[in-house]
Amino acid sequence: MRLILLGPPGAGKGTQAQRIVERHGIPQLSTGDMLRAAIAAGTDIGKKAKAVMDAGKLVSDDIVIGIVAERIEQPDCSKGFILDGFPRTLVQADATEAMLKAKGLELSAVIEIQVDDEVLTDRIAGRYTCAQCGAGYHDTNLKPKVEGVCDRCGSTHFKRRPDDNRDTVVARLQTYYKDTSPLIGYYYAKGLLHGVDGMASIDEVTASIEAILAKV
Ligand SMILES: [Zn+2]
Repeated sequence: MRLILLGPPGAGKGTQAQRIVERHGIPQLSTGDMLRAAIAAGTDIGKKAKAVMDAGKLVSDDIVIGIVAERIEQPDCSKGFILDGFPRTLVQADATEAMLKAKGLELSAVIEIQVDDEVLTDRIAGRYTCAQCGAGYHDTNLKPKVEGVCDRCGSTHFKRRPDDNRDTVVARLQTYYKDTSPLIGYYYAKGLLHGVDGMASIDEVTASIEAILAKV
């Protein structure tokens, strides 16, 4: 089972990927991890990547594809893998397809976790936690029983993550759509794209993904 999982930040992609890893015994391959591993292992392509990065340049698509190609030969990928954060562009998507084809492989499915932007923005932008015990709250969905007092520990001090504000969330979503929209069309045209409703509960999203995976 060779998968790509797409979804904006905050859609629960990490949680769902982790569940697929556990249920299906396939690894989640992130380009950052693969690059670091290839460099640490000192493979030919890892050495090339290191030289480029040491020179302060961005690693080219060729090198990244080479690293993915090398990584999926490892025994833990015998049943498949989830590609995480790659491909990001149409050129990379084409190169990925060609690389897999050369190995006699193809992608099984591309799963897009779809969200309602407004709802997602409200959800993330409203989050805050108790500064003392870490209990999670929300401006509208989950207020403390007594305003300004933590239900769990009685503390009156709360904190918000600096990037959990509306502007940052909207900017992250825009970047995601800018990068990802072309891929959605690309994989749709190839009949590989499957959408799931990311606004459902975590277990419901998992069930939708499992239903798709049962058919591929
Ligand atoms: Zn507390």
